Amino acid sequence: MADIFSEEKRSYVMSQIKSKDTKPEMMVRKFLHANGFRYGLHNKKLPGKPDLVMRKYASVIFVNGCFWHGHKHCKTGTRSPKTRQEWWKEKISKNRKRDLKKITELLDLGWNIITIWECELKPKKRDKTLSNLIKTLKKNQQ
Ligand SMILES: [Zn+2]
Repeated sequence: MADIFSEEKRSYVMSQIKSKDTKPEMMVRKFLHANGFRYGLHNKKLPGKPDLVMRKYASVIFVNGCFWHGHKHCKTGTRSPKTRQEWWKEKISKNRKRDLKKITELLDLGWNIITIWECELKPKKRDKTLSNLIKTLKKNQQ
């Protein structure tokens, strides 16, 4: 696939993807809030600063950008940028390792981990993803 971004544009796009309070995360937050769920945000005391922390459900939620976190079997997650390919490959691989480490630490602390991928929040998949999220939370509460 052709790289549609110039290098400057790409680094701008990446900085947006990396930032907190990303659009997919806001979508999940709004949905949960509208359905009466309450949560904490970016808890620095927990490994990996989970995006959402829901003690009542013993659950932490990560809303992951597919490119940044190297989503497997996903078009965006496995895309390789045209420029600085090796650099990106290493960067993403490091991110994946870090994700794995923080997940292991959280599991050791007794948390349930819920990862929601950006591609699962695309209009066609959104409803299913979000209703599954509620099911999982209720299951985790028991
Ligand atoms: Zn994905």
